[in-house]
Amino acid sequence: MPILPIVQFPDPMLRRPCTPVTAFDAALRQLAADMLETMYAAPGRGLAGPQVAVPRRVFVMDCTWKEGTRSPRVCVNPEIVAASDTLAVQTEGCLSIPGVPAAVARPDWIVLRWTDLDGTTVQARMDGFEAVCAQHELDHLNGRLCIDLLPEDDRIAISPLLAALGSS
Ligand code: ZN
Repeated sequence: MPILPIVQFPDPMLRRPCTPVTAFDAALRQLAADMLETMYAAPGRGLAGPQVAVPRRVFVMDCTWKEGTRSPRVCVNPEIVAASDTLAVQTEGCLSIPGVPAAVARPDWIVLRWTDLDGTTVQARMDGFEAVCAQHELDHLNGRLCIDLLPEDDRIAISPLLAALGSS
């Protein structure tokens, strides 16, 4: 399976809202397999369509593999159907914005609904880092990046790092 190139900030591809997946076919399976392989090789815990130049509503994630147990998820056409009122701050990294950690506040649990590769609707409650990861990846499908969620002071603080990425 090929490892795909990861689109890097500030590529405009990362700002493009993605369109829904409509065909649950061999091509989608291959894309999901390639995205997981690319994510593991990066190495990372989540990867969304636009990060591999595919502007479709699909992301992959695995929040446990770095601790020794693989639990890959492929989330097609995902949506958040419930979220906590309370927010938690966690530091996020993004494979498209390397070396720029972002301490972002998000709901600390969500209920995510998505379609799996067989076209079956799945729903799960996610907590902790898994909730963070799913929200981060879902944002990618709407052209939103974790750095967008930073408070103004933090955004100013990372702007030299972002400028360096843009000029390389
Ligand atoms: Zn990301």
